[in-house]
Amino acid sequence: MHQYDVIIVGGGMVGASLVCALAGRNLRIAMVEAVQPEVRTGAGYDDRAIALAYGTRQIFTGLHLWEQIAPAATPIHRIHISDRGHFGMARMDRREEGLPAIGYVVPARDIGAALSAAVAATAAVDSWCPATVTSVQQADDGVQLQLDCGGTAETLKTRLVVAADGADSLLREQFGIGHVERDYGQTAIVTNISPQLPHNNIAYERFTDSGPMALLPMSDNRCAVVWTVATDEAGAIMALDDAAFLAQLQARFGYRLGRLQKTGRRQAWPLRLVQAKESVRERLALIGNAVHTLHPVAGQGFNLGARDVAVLAEVLVDALRAGEDPGSLAVLNRYGEWRHRDHQNVMVFTDGLARLFTLPVPALGLARSAGMLAFDLLPPAKRWLTRMTMGRAERTPKLARGVPL
Ligand SMILES: Cc1cc2nc3c(=O)[nH]c(=O)nc-3n(C[C@H](O)[C@H](O)[C@H](O)COP(=O)(O)OP(=O)(O)OC[C@H]3O[C@@H](n4cnc5c(N)ncnc54)[C@H](O)[C@@H]3O)c2cc1C
Repeated sequence: MHQYDVIIVGGGMVGASLVCALAGRNLRIAMVEAVQPEVRTGAGYDDRAIALAYGTRQIFTGLHLWEQIAPAATPIHRIHISDRGHFGMARMDRREEGLPAIGYVVPARDIGAALSAAVAATAAVDSWCPATVTSVQQADDGVQLQLDCGGTAETLKTRLVVAADGADSLLREQFGIGHVERDYGQTAIVTNISPQLPHNNIAYERFTDSGPMALLPMSDNRCAVVWTVATDEAGAIMALDDAAFLAQLQARFGYRLGRLQKTGRRQAWPLRLVQAKESVRERLALIGNAVHTLHPVAGQGFNLGARDVAVLAEVLVDALRAGEDPGSLAVLNRYGEWRHRDHQNVMVFTDGLARLFTLPVPALGLARSAGMLAFDLLPPAKRWLTRMTMGRAERTPKLARGVPL
């Protein structure tokens, strides 16, 4: 039996970020992750790119990780939103917020590499990897986890377990927390392309007849493409040769970036919404995709998870200072209540956007155009949305303000 103060199940981007936030606080911490980092962070031209909100950059700065991530980050100066075949269009600009960037685009493998190196360098953390949590037993004073470590069984005990184990969270299920789940019937096709013209650090969000499409600025004048299509069309698009794929992409995106010239390997991600009905129980906190799995249309999933990390770490560190039990419901409710509004706002916004722009109702095209124009001309609406997508709309945790815990 191995005893800990905190066990974080899941070493994805969110779980590993929490490990970094809690390390060095005189806590016995374990991280349990089923897949080894080498397998999770394989290098390649086509790796998924993640749009980080400015607030997430601040959180990484607070965790002393931004220095490692920054060389791989491309700043977003402007966002350009348009609806193919309709007149509406909206823009957001970093100057409206007085910041160096609205956000940054970083290959997931570079975020993963920085997090893996930080976790490995932290002596105070036991990393159980590869190891899978197979079951959980609750007791009054703690939680017991059964692990399968490649055929060997281990038992860990803790005062607090954090579920960072993704959309199909076993912890969520074992604690009997219900969730809402909806298959969007859509698949995100992800790749990189090289356009003829400079991207000028503009992120393009374009709504097309086949679904929303994002082109995000990357290094070497490449753009990361996230193109959402109906799942029953995804197979045919994945099977196209590069020239035919680029032609289809060009037809939907248009010529704002000139000719789309070169494309890398494609990956397909089936999309669904998952929302847990509760985010805490006595001795359990849910973070990241375990509590909210979003449509990637607005690039918000990891950003929301990073804010979970910043808030949970702040609540736990404050509780420890006050001599409280970090796994008690009273402490964890502070995290749950603080995060509730942000979770709801971002979930409703991304789900609404994903559905509004994919419903096959012709009259909606006009309504969308009018909505976009109104948004472009209405400073308060625009400011609220910019602040939400930057992770600055709600009460900001210390880490996101660059203040140490
Ligand atoms: C196409 C696409 C594009 C996206 N683009 C963006 C973007 O631009 N910006 C953005 O903010 N977000 C984006 N997202 C969302 C983002 O990728 C996710 O929100 C984020 O990766 C979630 O991280 P996580 O650590 O919570 O979950 P996961 O990455 O799912 O990690 C969960 C981890 O838990 C481990 N695990 C699971 N069960 C167990 C178990 N029983 N025992 C041990 N380990 C276990 C898994 O191996 C895994 O490593 C995108 C998503 C998609 C699909």
